Amino acid sequence: MRIFDPHIHMTSRTTDDYEAMYAAGVRALVEPAFWLGQPRTSPASFFDSFDSLLGWEPFRAAQYGIAHHCTIALNPKEANDPRCTPVLDELPRYLVKDGVVAVGEIGYDSMTPAEDHALAAQLQLAAEHQLPALVHTPHRDKAAGLKRTVDVIRESPLPPDRVVLDHLNETTVRDASDSGCWLGFSIYPDTKMDEDRMVAILRAHPAERDRILVNSAADWGRSDPLKTRKVGEAMLAAGFTEDDIDQVLWRNPVAFYGLSGRLVLDVEDPAATHEGNSILRGGE
Ligand SMILES: [Zn+2]
Repeated sequence: MRIFDPHIHMTSRTTDDYEAMYAAGVRALVEPAFWLGQPRTSPASFFDSFDSLLGWEPFRAAQYGIAHHCTIALNPKEANDPRCTPVLDELPRYLVKDGVVAVGEIGYDSMTPAEDHALAAQLQLAAEHQLPALVHTPHRDKAAGLKRTVDVIRESPLPPDRVVLDHLNETTVRDASDSGCWLGFSIYPDTKMDEDRMVAILRAHPAERDRILVNSAADWGRSDPLKTRKVGEAMLAAGFTEDDIDQVLWRNPVAFYGLSGRLVLDVEDPAATHEGNSILRGGE
């Protein structure tokens, strides 16, 4: 089973996770820019984290045989902090870089006017840079949040077939599908979607199966970077074929992020160091 996790925050995960993911079949992933847990206090903090997504983290992933790409954006939560919003003006110099395969994650957290502005501005940036966009849908008040998100996408210059709507569930899948966007599902250990609910959605929506992405969205919180593999196993147990699984867990994310023209799935022999630093310590 070859697996592409299209949304996972490896910055918050350990090398043990990389080893376990490789053993489970993960060969590629996309890490969206997001918050650090601790609120940022200046745009400079974003630039260091963006550089890390383009340098250190792909270096770390390569040590474990995993191809790493990223998405760059001002995240929905921090779009509300005036100390952070100037980063919007600096995004274009990151969006031209090779490792960036989408603008994201963007979208709504609390549906404020500041979030309206950041979402519309970043959909515009995606269109200008010919990149797809990863759009987070709110965890609270999901149906209303999705509707408003789709309205903003419709008013933007970015076509819906270049957008993935993430964190969907049974209550939002139909409206999301009608929007023409790609459909993203984050599988979590004890809240929101789990692997059996995911299998039920795949069974109920065969016509949408070629634009469904499944991710672990693993981050600082309670999460499981092997949830993609667990969905594959649940699909097998439910009678889906190996080819169905390959479509959902590999070919669909390759097709979506391939819209950037920047996906490189071969992992080169990793360099010994990144800017003088290695994952070893001392003289090992
Ligand atoms: Zn995320």
